[in-house]
Amino acid sequence: MRSGGHCLENFTASSEVKEIIDLSQMSDVYFDESRKAFSVGPGAIVAPTQNTLFKGWGVMIPSAGCSEVGLGGHILGGGYNFYSRMHGIAVDHLYAVEVVVVGADGTPRTVVATREANDPNRGLWWAHTGGGGGNFGVVTRYWLRTPGVVSTDPGTLLPRAGNQRVRTVQWSWESLSQQSFTTLIRNYCQWFERNSAPGAKETQIWATFSGSHRSAGTIGLMAGVEDTVEGGEALLDRLFADVTSGAGVKVASDTRHELPWLDRDNWYWGPPGRQKDKTSDLRKSYTDEQIATIYRYLNDDSISNPGAQVNLAALGGKINTIRPDATAYVHRDSVLRVYFTPGVWRTQSEDAAHVAWVRKLYRDVYSTTGGVPVPNDINAGAYINYPDVDLADPAWNTSDTPWHTLYYGANYARLQQVKKAYDPRDVFRHALSIRPA
Ligand SMILES: Cc1cc2nc3c(=O)[nH]c(=O)nc-3n(C[C@H](O)[C@H](O)[C@H](O)COP(=O)(O)OP(=O)(O)OC[C@H]3O[C@@H](n4cnc5c(N)ncnc54)[C@H](O)[C@@H]3O)c2cc1C
Repeated sequence: MRSGGHCLENFTASSEVKEIIDLSQMSDVYFDESRKAFSVGPGAIVAPTQNTLFKGWGVMIPSAGCSEVGLGGHILGGGYNFYSRMHGIAVDHLYAVEVVVVGADGTPRTVVATREANDPNRGLWWAHTGGGGGNFGVVTRYWLRTPGVVSTDPGTLLPRAGNQRVRTVQWSWESLSQQSFTTLIRNYCQWFERNSAPGAKETQIWATFSGSHRSAGTIGLMAGVEDTVEGGEALLDRLFADVTSGAGVKVASDTRHELPWLDRDNWYWGPPGRQKDKTSDLRKSYTDEQIATIYRYLNDDSISNPGAQVNLAALGGKINTIRPDATAYVHRDSVLRVYFTPGVWRTQSEDAAHVAWVRKLYRDVYSTTGGVPVPNDINAGAYINYPDVDLADPAWNTSDTPWHTLYYGANYARLQQVKKAYDPRDVFRHALSIRPA
């Protein structure tokens, strides 16, 4: 199945795939009176969907930062964006899902599975709250509505969309020593370690730290807060003051601006190209040794791609108010999501250098846990919407922890049971698909 085509592995593009079910034309978005929920087709793309929801009802889904991601695959994996600290992730608002499944005799049937406690198909709904794409059947529709809101006004049934105050500070690589780099990253991580508890006023701040490769010239921190938050500007300033404290770095640029909601959500990632990215979640700050490894790779000239970076996006807050087994999305105690990317490149001849850089970087950052983020005091595993087949490859995962524990933790066994019940023939499969129990 392919909806928005943004899969970060070649699950729908590998030469083993013989047929594609293309859902991209099923992209309608409307308020469904009968279910009192917003109905979204799998082919709906983030930016036009947010436009429709905002212009129609003033609401939004806390889903992908990239405007071009398809909701078909995105919601299935959990779906987060900057506003998730305030509003949770996309599946926290998933009321129901319509799926075409294939029975043991090969006959397809359509099932609507809801979060209602008495729904006999509730297990299938649960599996769609973070179980990942391409596992159980073909999603042909989602319905979204925030749990616990009782109202006839659609404008209250999803989070309200708001204009943002944004501040971006950049530091030049020329002015950075390893010590100042370490202090910045450590301060940033520790800030979110301290300020991500559900309900804390600091969870109204979203932030993303771009630890860009030296060839980009600068590294930077962008953070924001909704313009209706009382004292929001002061909260933002405190974040920047705390992050730079003791770093002794010279600011290359410092900008503040107001960002209307629609401008914010229409962010475009950049031109498409070849990619190999990795991710991991953090419960606590990296150690200084890990930051030293990141510093070394960002200064490594075996690649020269300004898009290469280690990006740290803030999580926590509302996301962590939900029990890890209440949805298939298990990462309910992370405070940061780290994204390792060599950037995007154009030609196959550049593959080897880019892929080697990101593989070795990741392996070395997690050298004490077998090259992967084995859940422990610091690590919380990986996010299935950023699938990475290396986690299932013994050459790159030398820990005793299987790939599915990294992605799903203790929820994997239940996902396998749902798989057995709804896809007993394992019709829907790829390199990291749920194996039937
Ligand atoms: C540039 C970029 C930015 C991103 N930003 C974010 C972000 O900010 N936050 C975040 O959470 N994620 C982000 N992602 C990850 C994104 O959420 C996933 O790649 C997601 O799976 C994309 O969904 P899609 O429909 O576009 O992809 P597709 O390639 O169409 O599908 C992805 C997977 O889902 C399966 N699938 C697709 N449609 C269906 C369906 N209808 N029924 C069943 N299975 C289906 C596919 O078979 C495949 O396995 C980003 C990805 C990219 C490339």
